[in-house]
Amino acid sequence: MASLDSVARTVLRRRYLRRDETGEVVETPDELFHRVAADLASAEAAFGGDVDATEARFHEVMAERLFLPNSPTLMNAGTDLQQLAACFVLPVEDSIESIFEALSQTACIHQSGGGTGFSFSKLRPEGDVVGKTGGVASGPVSFMQIFDSATEQIKQGGRRRGANMGVLHVSHPDVETFVSAKGEADVLRNFNLSVATDAAFWDAIDAGEPYDLVNPRTDEIVRQVDPEALLELVAEMAWETGDPGVLFLDTIEAANPTPQLGHIEATNPCGEVPLLPYEACVLGSVNLAAHVDGETVDWDRLRETVHLGVRVLDDAIERSTFPVPEIAERVAETRKVGVGVMGFHDLLVDLRVPYGSPAAVEVAEAVMRFVHDEAWAASRQLAEERGPFPAWESSVHETPVRNATTTTVAPTGTISLLAGCSAGIEPIYNVAYTKHVLGGLEIRNDRFVDMVEARGLDAEVLLEDLHDRTTIQDVESIPDDVKRLFQTAHDLPPRQHLAVQAAFQRHTDNAVSKTVNLPASASVADVESVFRTARELDLKGVTVFRSGASTGQVLGEAPRR
Ligand code: UDP
Repeated sequence: MASLDSVARTVLRRRYLRRDETGEVVETPDELFHRVAADLASAEAAFGGDVDATEARFHEVMAERLFLPNSPTLMNAGTDLQQLAACFVLPVEDSIESIFEALSQTACIHQSGGGTGFSFSKLRPEGDVVGKTGGVASGPVSFMQIFDSATEQIKQGGRRRGANMGVLHVSHPDVETFVSAKGEADVLRNFNLSVATDAAFWDAIDAGEPYDLVNPRTDEIVRQVDPEALLELVAEMAWETGDPGVLFLDTIEAANPTPQLGHIEATNPCGEVPLLPYEACVLGSVNLAAHVDGETVDWDRLRETVHLGVRVLDDAIERSTFPVPEIAERVAETRKVGVGVMGFHDLLVDLRVPYGSPAAVEVAEAVMRFVHDEAWAASRQLAEERGPFPAWESSVHETPVRNATTTTVAPTGTISLLAGCSAGIEPIYNVAYTKHVLGGLEIRNDRFVDMVEARGLDAEVLLEDLHDRTTIQDVESIPDDVKRLFQTAHDLPPRQHLAVQAAFQRHTDNAVSKTVNLPASASVADVESVFRTARELDLKGVTVFRSGASTGQVLGEAPRR
């Protein structure tokens, strides 16, 4: 097994390694990878596969940190829990029964390490009539607070923080309340918010026409608003708090692989997986930084890892149990998996390509196109061995494939720490910093250390000075070419964040987790312009974070979704 750094060891010990009833850790990191590999590979038996050989290959790809499945798989595979997916979407209908059913399902999912997303768009607006009691409805935002409190309580028991995505359609009469909800401190702390827009909304903006807000219970137009002013309110709140993000539902629906099963109205908490109600998705990420040969991408190795990754995730679906029967049924029908990438910035450093350059967008495009093509080749092969996913025939896929989707770019908040690489496709935030989780983790960029040492600089002295700094561009002692390779999220212009996100999205079935960082001096109009550009680039969603904003984002000690 490749050696683990001290950050990875700490994270594993605190969160992932199995413990006995007294709380003692009873497993080594290598035993963890063996436990997961053995459990997943046991799925091969049903298809006549070679269980032992597969187990050895799964173990190797994880132990070498070439590919890691999402945290619930690492924590739960081969244990009593056995719930392996990170991402869920639950339906919420306009009734007390449905709301509280979703609440109890949410509690079970959070307990097992999954995150939940919901569309609250069907709930009648605040002040509407309640037939049964003759009372007055309290509206979606007030019900979201119940989900938030439940999440807060369950969090204390589990190893992982429960996280939620709350979505409201922009035509809902409570949209302004929703959009402004996180303006107050400590409200909806366990939620990310996304306002769901569609073509009708953007067309109304373009045409300069009023936009209808509709009561979902009666389909009646309640009032008309100026869509431009509404967009400005969204931008204002995002400027202030980082929330809400914007979803482009029409772009999402256009990529829905199984439209006959229903429409997509929501995503998981960090936005990278749009799902049907009751769907779940197992994710896993390829560590790009471990697929470099000299100063080029090791394409052969990457191909092998992606094929193995799809197999790992398809076996994970086979092995996973789900806390709600409806979810088990839906997952069995669509078998969505999400192979993604992490360590993208590290890869760029190894290729000597600055994140802020046009060449970085070309690398993004080339790498993700390759991952996507190979992931589909792997899914086609699995379909030959095991049959296509049951809903395939009525899906948009022409050739038989095993999975309705194969690719997703996740944030990889924790698994990138285990792999010791930069998170997802994000640029780095600092070259050395304290990550305020698990009692504080000291993180330093090894590539930066190597490079400055090779130039004869004292890395220890330098890092002390650079600790927690969000840019190194003003440090005279660092050579310019090194500075260019270690541009941080704060150094990069929003258009570059968007260009990289768009390059990945062009070759990703699901969505791409990415935060567009803005300087503290950015205006509300700048945020609005990011939203418009994101739409022009055919993104499925967009999240901004302005330096110095009051972070309301969940999972956000480094602001991201
Ligand atoms: N997630 C969650 N709680 C957490 C972190 C993540 O529920 O504390 C879910 C959420 O759906 C998120 C997904 O896991 O979108 C993937 O997040 P990430 O890639 O950061 O997870 P990792 O596998 O690295 O732990």
